[in-house]
Amino acid sequence: MAIMDQIEQKISAGLPISRQDAGFLFLEATDEQLSRLATFMKSRFHDADHATYLIMAIVNYTNVCVAKCDYCSFFRLPHDKDTYLLNTEQVCEKIDSLVKFGGKLVGFNGGFHPKLRIHDYAELFSQVRSRYPDLEFYEMTVAEFMFSCKVSKVSYDDGAKILAESGTRWVTGGGAEIMDNSFRKRHSPGKFSVEDYYFAQEAILRAGMGSTATMVIGFDESLEERLNHLESLRAFQDRVGGTLASFLCWTYKPWNNQLGGEEIPTSEYLRWLAVSRIYLHNIRNIRTSVLTKNTDALLGLKFGANDFDLPTEDEVTQKAGATISHDFENILQTAKNLKIRAVQRDSWPVRFWHQSKKPNLSP
Ligand code: SF4
Repeated sequence: MAIMDQIEQKISAGLPISRQDAGFLFLEATDEQLSRLATFMKSRFHDADHATYLIMAIVNYTNVCVAKCDYCSFFRLPHDKDTYLLNTEQVCEKIDSLVKFGGKLVGFNGGFHPKLRIHDYAELFSQVRSRYPDLEFYEMTVAEFMFSCKVSKVSYDDGAKILAESGTRWVTGGGAEIMDNSFRKRHSPGKFSVEDYYFAQEAILRAGMGSTATMVIGFDESLEERLNHLESLRAFQDRVGGTLASFLCWTYKPWNNQLGGEEIPTSEYLRWLAVSRIYLHNIRNIRTSVLTKNTDALLGLKFGANDFDLPTEDEVTQKAGATISHDFENILQTAKNLKIRAVQRDSWPVRFWHQSKKPNLSP
């Protein structure tokens, strides 16, 4: 039997595909085949012609970072002249701007600031949550959490406990890029190792907070490195009982940084999105990135994605060449053209359980 037929049989029988299958699909399947298979996998969780979205802002509370990733266009070192660290009032001004757009979600994203301790974050998050009870917050990324625990000299379990006790609900999977140690050594040796990242994320889940998964493609990563990312993520999601709420993939923007290069075409992004949906059978929500692909991102709704953000601001990607449009009607028209009904949603529960038995997340 041809390889493609074997893969299709596995998918229709509800069996997970292998990493070799995923590599084959990416290299050999037609766009039509990928779209069809990814839509089949999406329909296990969602109506195929249905999508959801949130209006959201990413608040970049500081641009100080000592990790020095070569693909980053955003960071400044502590001694640079154009550094900033927003105070609570300045953060709230940004949140007020989002509220005017009808937004419901704020994601905080900064850098590895050597002077910020885990208690500083907990204090900020606690203040904004009490001030905006109707909003949801993605308070930190796993990468920032890891660094903050290290400089605060607390274990990941203790750091997660401090955040959870202050009311923090989400420490999301941002900052993952490509989860492969050779990629990490090439481009961001000061950030984290793959094993350490999952170790920290498990502590976050253990403390009762929610988390998500992300991936960024289009640097110089090999297909094997991309597959390593998906493979380690699927295994982690199995281990934690399907708790991660979503997977978001976006594309590297090559402007104003040391690495440079060229942006990958939309067609490659859509193909990878489809492969991700098909391979990540244990992740319910696959999200497409308006932040980096603008209206083209909505084409991803035909390649397995079921959800997206309408962002109002994010300095990190804009510094790297992304553009943000506030013409939401125009973006949503793309969904209508695809005959997909996109509706604004509320925030998701902190965790999903996909397995009948909850896992034991003890250390
Ligand atoms: S990608 Fe994040 S961790 Fe890396 S330099 Fe930029 S802000 Fe720092």
